[in-house]
Amino acid sequence: MKKLFLFIITSALFLTSTALAQDDISLYINGSKINCDVAPQLVNDRTLCPTRAIFDAFGASVEWDGANKQVTVKKDGSEILLTVGAKTAYVNSKAVSLDCAPTIISDRCMVPIRFISEALGCEVKWEEKTKSVLITYNNDSAGSGNNTENTVISDIKLAQNGDDKSVFEIKYNGTKEPNTSFLSYSNCIVMDFENTSLAFADSKVTVDNSFVKEVRYAQHEDYARVVIECKNVQPYTTSFANGIFTVNVGSASTAVVTPSNPVTPANPVTPDNPQEPGVTMTDKEFTKTRNENNLCVVIDAGHGGKDPGAVYKNANGVIELAEKDVNLTIANRVYDILLSEGVNVKYTRNTDQFLELKEITDIANNYDADLFVSVHINAMENSPDVSGMMVLYNGDALGDKYGINSKEVAVNIDKQIAAAVNIKDRGIVSRPGLWVLRKTNMPAVLIECAFISNANDRAIMTDETALNAYARSIADGIKQSLETMKQNIIKAKNE
Ligand SMILES: [Zn+2]
Repeated sequence: MKKLFLFIITSALFLTSTALAQDDISLYINGSKINCDVAPQLVNDRTLCPTRAIFDAFGASVEWDGANKQVTVKKDGSEILLTVGAKTAYVNSKAVSLDCAPTIISDRCMVPIRFISEALGCEVKWEEKTKSVLITYNNDSAGSGNNTENTVISDIKLAQNGDDKSVFEIKYNGTKEPNTSFLSYSNCIVMDFENTSLAFADSKVTVDNSFVKEVRYAQHEDYARVVIECKNVQPYTTSFANGIFTVNVGSASTAVVTPSNPVTPANPVTPDNPQEPGVTMTDKEFTKTRNENNLCVVIDAGHGGKDPGAVYKNANGVIELAEKDVNLTIANRVYDILLSEGVNVKYTRNTDQFLELKEITDIANNYDADLFVSVHINAMENSPDVSGMMVLYNGDALGDKYGINSKEVAVNIDKQIAAAVNIKDRGIVSRPGLWVLRKTNMPAVLIECAFISNANDRAIMTDETALNAYARSIADGIKQSLETMKQNIIKAKNE
């Protein structure tokens, strides 16, 4: 947990407290809204969350001692003791001071959010727009490609298109300036934003003014790259303030751009204003182009080769079980079932092979597949009690032009697994930051089949009957989704 990050959260909560007094605050854990019978509240500029709702969601047991007004939380063999009105809590009998004492509100014991984050070692963010507390715990980080969920380039535009200079503004919520260089052989200003996501698809835009030929931007595994290709060697300066990274290119590039004199972009370079040639198709027209009789599914076994994914090590530090192997076993069986039942199915790998995340999504996109299903195993090393299965999807991309959206697919697969495998069902969770969910064109889901860090789940992972049940139920969820797609494509064609 980064101290600075916590400080920012606390400040953000402090600053927004007055405006929030009457609004209910929502609570999300890993993207799933937690239904609290008492909503999180602001008390003395601290956000208090219902103890039981949060710790329940983390798989901890919560006991309430009414006589002593104490809550005991048991989790991972450790114990947390909170006393109403007391600013000291005990974590494994060790005193920990709280910035605000637990309080009873509407019969519920409420505890400061900061304590939750520190006790559980998870990230807590405040989202002003939706008045939400977003808690992210560290489950299987693989598949995310990079931890870029927090740092995003949300806009790139040509803010000034003058005879003496071009000014580009890159809207970016990070704190670190990009690594910037000028490649003289190609006349390119190259800016690499580390651990950053583009909020839009890779693209290039022709600028063609006195100084600049085009602007390109692309997502790489660990960084987002923005390239300004100049017409020849150009002087340029950069500055970074208020979330805008500004690049001045051209002979007057040292001039100051005054915000009090805003310039209407003559030729805005925004992803909302693509200058791509060709025919734009409506979603319905797109649906009609799909072949309902030959819908293609790509099955992806997560990790592989040099990347084991999550692992379970025994007491001697020896790896006993690696995620990549379980993923491959299940994925291969899903593939075999679908193939034998006449489905047009492809795989990203069917051996112990490493693929870059971009290679994985390129495979699915190059097949022009209709559905992408990635198989993973979760892990929470410091919380061996946490168990269960969940299905991730990108809630920010719920188009249904393929005849179904990712969320519906996630629901189908989640229900099938829950009915077939004796494992806790953690439900479906939106994880728009995951590379394989945001870089696939088609509906896509990522199944976290179990927690490798949990002993019961490991027993399931190594049980042949259970592995077959996973494969059968995932195949059934896929077939069910393909049937929905098929019907909707036929419907679109008949309209
Ligand atoms: Zn994984």
